[in-house]
Amino acid sequence: MIPLRRNISEMKGYVPGFQPKEPDYIKLNTNENPYPPSPAVIEAIRAEVGDGLRKYPDPASRLAREEAGRLYGFDPAWIIMANGSDEVLNNLIRAFAGEGEEIAYIHPSYSYYVTLAEIQGARVRIFGLTPDFRIDGLPERYGGKLFFLTTPNAPLGFTFPLPFIVELATRCDGMLVVDEAYADFADSTALDLVRSHDNVVVTRTLSKSYSLAGMRLGLAIARPEVIAALDKIRDHYNLDRLAQVAAVAALHDQEYFRECVAKIRETREWFCDGLRAIGYQVIPSEANFVFASPPDRNGGRVYEALFSRKILVRHFTDPLLSHGLRISIGTREEMASTLAALREIS
Ligand code: PMP
Repeated sequence: MIPLRRNISEMKGYVPGFQPKEPDYIKLNTNENPYPPSPAVIEAIRAEVGDGLRKYPDPASRLAREEAGRLYGFDPAWIIMANGSDEVLNNLIRAFAGEGEEIAYIHPSYSYYVTLAEIQGARVRIFGLTPDFRIDGLPERYGGKLFFLTTPNAPLGFTFPLPFIVELATRCDGMLVVDEAYADFADSTALDLVRSHDNVVVTRTLSKSYSLAGMRLGLAIARPEVIAALDKIRDHYNLDRLAQVAAVAALHDQEYFRECVAKIRETREWFCDGLRAIGYQVIPSEANFVFASPPDRNGGRVYEALFSRKILVRHFTDPLLSHGLRISIGTREEMASTLAALREIS
């Protein structure tokens, strides 16, 4: 037996979505963007490849933080760049929740929070959702160290209204982490709360709306004291040179970004209408995926039937979710093929 810490030997570890080796799937299972990254990103990466790679990158990711600061309206001291938003979620737990201390999240939402808490040895309190998508049984004051709120919710796609998030922030003694991985596809954002509420952190990713899942880029926005703490514990060269120039170029090319997001939002609404027309129950989505249930509420059956047609979506065996499927929004053509397959499967 190797002398592992007990919580590490007992934990299962996170299982990422399936990445098929063959390219001939319509891949709608991990919420990737169907469009390529901005041409400016490819150009910036090409220009960076060369002798300069001998040298370490800027440990502070200064240019990327400045670009993000201009875009979101914050001084760079309020921004930290991350190797995927997963990195900053990890560091938030490391910074705020000690062994045996409590963090909370909502089920269903992003289960990686649990994995991160298990590594840290923190306890996890799970809140459910009410039928109208509010937090079930939230105490008047929540005394845990961190509350993770995923909005838009994954895998259900709805957003929590801003006044509700404000109320949650005021009821949390610890930090409220608003995980906005999908907010670029939504109508609202909690970014302003970072200025008005000391305990709010907003996390973002470039994986979805900027088509850069393969580059591993995320960020967090919070008060400078919080950012300074996160800065102390991250890997000092957490973003390599290619990631840094890619982040600057992607965040700068807002015209390309807006076009991609608009196409995905439009396709999402068209696809949801199509699903409803064949009797699916669809939760209104503000993300780049939808959660939908077939008339017989047997998500597993439809998952298998789609899989055999080389269409990959996400099915969760959790009893709260097994009746439906999470389907990422691809191109209009991909979604038309998916609808045609679903009509056939019915
Ligand atoms: N938060 C949520 C809710 C997600 O779905 C994801 C993607 N799986 C992440 C964070 C992490 O995104 P990334 O590390 O790619 O930035």
